[in-house]
Amino acid sequence: MNDHPGRIAVLTVGDELLAGEVADSNLGTIGKALSAMGMSVWEHATVRDDVQAISTAIKDFLETNDAVLITGGLGPTSDDVTREAVADATGKRLESRKALETMIRGFFESMDREMPEENLKQALIPCGARAIPPAGGTAPGFIVEYGGKLIAALPGVPREMERMLRSDVKGELGSRFSSGEFTVTLRVNTFGAGESDVAQELHDLIGGCAVRYGFLALNGPIVVKLTATAGSREEAERLAADEREKVVGRLGPLVYGFGDETMEEVMGRLLLERGLSIAVAESLTAGMVCSRIANVPGSSDYFRGGVVTYSRESKEEVLGLPKELLREGAVNQGVARAMAESVRRMFSADLGVATTGLAGPGRDGEKKTVGTLCLALADGKDTGSWERMLPGDRELVRSIATMAAMNVIRLYVLHGDQVVAD
Ligand code: ATP
Repeated sequence: MNDHPGRIAVLTVGDELLAGEVADSNLGTIGKALSAMGMSVWEHATVRDDVQAISTAIKDFLETNDAVLITGGLGPTSDDVTREAVADATGKRLESRKALETMIRGFFESMDREMPEENLKQALIPCGARAIPPAGGTAPGFIVEYGGKLIAALPGVPREMERMLRSDVKGELGSRFSSGEFTVTLRVNTFGAGESDVAQELHDLIGGCAVRYGFLALNGPIVVKLTATAGSREEAERLAADEREKVVGRLGPLVYGFGDETMEEVMGRLLLERGLSIAVAESLTAGMVCSRIANVPGSSDYFRGGVVTYSRESKEEVLGLPKELLREGAVNQGVARAMAESVRRMFSADLGVATTGLAGPGRDGEKKTVGTLCLALADGKDTGSWERMLPGDRELVRSIATMAAMNVIRLYVLHGDQVVAD
């Protein structure tokens, strides 16, 4: 085992990546997997589907790195040339492996399809390489040693790549290059304050301990990333979890979840626990709130339904809002309240939530400023409403508004089933 973590380079192959047609998700997947093992990607390049370009990149990387992980270009077509490029860079011959050929033939037989001759090419790997069986497709991967260094070639399809990374590559890298340190990153998901406000709230915690802080601004939520490194996974987890407690204590109800948890999942769980149902009336968000709520399996247990009333006429006709209420415009708290109350009754739900606002760029005859969001929540006893100015362009305004609508439901439950508006 090396005393220091090895330098690992990642080479992603594909014309489509360079043309911007496909976003390079493999790099991120590898980066995350390595950092969880206390290693990191030292450098990265993307090259086109060309033997010389790939071969040159491999040779360059091997001069200063201990391993090169390549993704893509292992398919059966003429533009899949990673095998040839590894052979070229290492001077190794390609040989056909009977076992791989059988697996590839088996793949086609299982689908009751004739195997195109081109697929036989996928049974070729450099002499001396260890083959990695196809992981869901037809492309095998391989790991080959060269001059004491390691080259791993994996398929481009992200799902297949990830499976091989987990099954074969991580173990190989871990046993050669692990620093003996483990890194754990925990995420605290917040909504309702900007990135600098969240950072300001935590300023005295940041830098005061072994845990590294990072902030990620998504389309509405701000994620606080807490990264701890220690000699064992348990210790790294404990350090990060202790810090997470402090962050949650500091940020209070701004925190809606952890890790990959989404606002709709958290909101749904709270509604289920309380046995409450909801209905949604949307103008500004035009179906986005309903769509997000329905992302969660089992949401039919609490989600009664919703309406999109985008025009003033539909607010009158579908929700029965009085003409006089809309005379002053459709973007105000009064309209949002009437929408929430109406949709609640319409669907016989416990709670009704409504969004109206101005996403811009035009003002559509409204008096309010672009970026205005009016939200309301009705529970049959009380109705609360909120007005906020949201930052960003049309897309961001609608995205934050969608989160905000679900957030008021979450806060309602947290406040003991009470509408607490400001
Ligand atoms: P297969 O034989 O299964 O096609 P392959 O190794 O030949 O595998 P490619 O042909 O390079 O892989 O890519 C297959 C698919 O995976 C394509 O849809 C491609 O856009 C996608 N892909 C390739 N590389 C990446 C990457 N780095 N990130 C995300 N997607 C990728």
